[in-house]
Amino acid sequence: MNELKRKDKEFIWHPFTQSLTAPDPIVIKKASGAYLYTDDGHRLLDGISSWWVNSHGHAHPHINQAIAKQADKLEHVIFASFTHEPAINLAEKLIQKAPKGLKRVFYSDNGSTAVESALKMAFQYWHNKGENRPYILSLEHAYHGDTFGAMAASERSVFTKAFWPLLFNVLKAPSTCVSEINASFAASDITHSALKKLDLILQKYNKHIAAIIIEPMLQGAGGMRIFTPGFLRGIRSLCDAHKILLIADEVATGFYRTGLFFACNHEDISPDIMCIAKGLSGGYLPLAATLATEAIFEAFLSTDKSKALLHGHSFTANPLGCAAALASLDLFERHENQENIKKLSELFKQSLKLFSDAPIKNARSLGPLIAIELDAKGGYLSEAAQAMSAYCYKEGLYIRPLGNIIYFMPPFCLSPEEALWALELIQKAIKNITI
Ligand code: PLP
Repeated sequence: MNELKRKDKEFIWHPFTQSLTAPDPIVIKKASGAYLYTDDGHRLLDGISSWWVNSHGHAHPHINQAIAKQADKLEHVIFASFTHEPAINLAEKLIQKAPKGLKRVFYSDNGSTAVESALKMAFQYWHNKGENRPYILSLEHAYHGDTFGAMAASERSVFTKAFWPLLFNVLKAPSTCVSEINASFAASDITHSALKKLDLILQKYNKHIAAIIIEPMLQGAGGMRIFTPGFLRGIRSLCDAHKILLIADEVATGFYRTGLFFACNHEDISPDIMCIAKGLSGGYLPLAATLATEAIFEAFLSTDKSKALLHGHSFTANPLGCAAALASLDLFERHENQENIKKLSELFKQSLKLFSDAPIKNARSLGPLIAIELDAKGGYLSEAAQAMSAYCYKEGLYIRPLGNIIYFMPPFCLSPEEALWALELIQKAIKNITI
């Protein structure tokens, strides 16, 4: 074991890792474009964009320069009494890009804090208006983060079991996934049935529900579940009908991860509150935001100070993060980058047929994302999926399956030829490993 690994073992506690049995972590020495380089000279394609954050590739000169330039001016300042140019410019741009109606940007520093801020905004919105609405409703299979509010809103799972007694009660409604479509169930039937069930819950609890929180179009960590057409729009309509706030958690889906700028754009809906993080800074720095409508913002305006949103984080609106985000938005606007996202999206859709005779349950894609659901035992600890990632690793592709779901979600700078190489490798891994 080399010296770095020895020290890592001695001093570090890694996330989502059983330290007693996990293999030693791989030391990454540098990264460039879509590739990671290990300290023993291995080149790896970053097939999951480093936990879905990296948009334009690693060490992008445009973002590097923006951060360096900002570091020379202002690296950080408290955001309660002060403000600064990068945060203001970024907020203006985000509002221009956001679904219509969202007018205010509340910064924080990661996806979970963006969700916590959203939940607190929704609860306090009703509280400030003199209404007691004790419930949040979320969808089955949801994942919204690892802090307490976010865990409560997520599906109860092995990840949160130790904390169940502490998690507040959340109402649950079914979600839909295109994998459920078959000869007996058309997409429209699945959508209709799930919306009907949601409507019944809303009729029962409506004046008691503060908000519905959803991951629009794609439930990521819950298994890369892609909504059936009409489900997202249907949820928005039911929120309107029952006068309940809609929180769109776009932490994973924002910034073209599903092929459009925001996943809400697929069905042209506007939430009342929207959470963004991960790709916001191009995957460079911890930065997040919770966007809200003017009506929500106004409910916090009062001469009574206790009606303010008394919430914030030390690194709120970090100027380096904001500078990285502005540079990332510049890159998204470049024609060639837009074109590549379209090409990858088309390739992924076409590549579903690579898996048509594989021994799998289902393959699905949405924009520059493809997910293959293995027909194997083991749930989150699926051995087949582990064996496949080991196979891909040896060949130079890094993937990290979610249980039996193998997915490929590379940085958008990847060329279609490189993407096809990775998809064919995954196809080979599935063929070579007995499920
Ligand atoms: N919301 C969604 C939809 C996510 O996928 C995640 C993380 O994967 C989070 C929230 C939490 O984000 P973070 O890991 O930055 O706290």
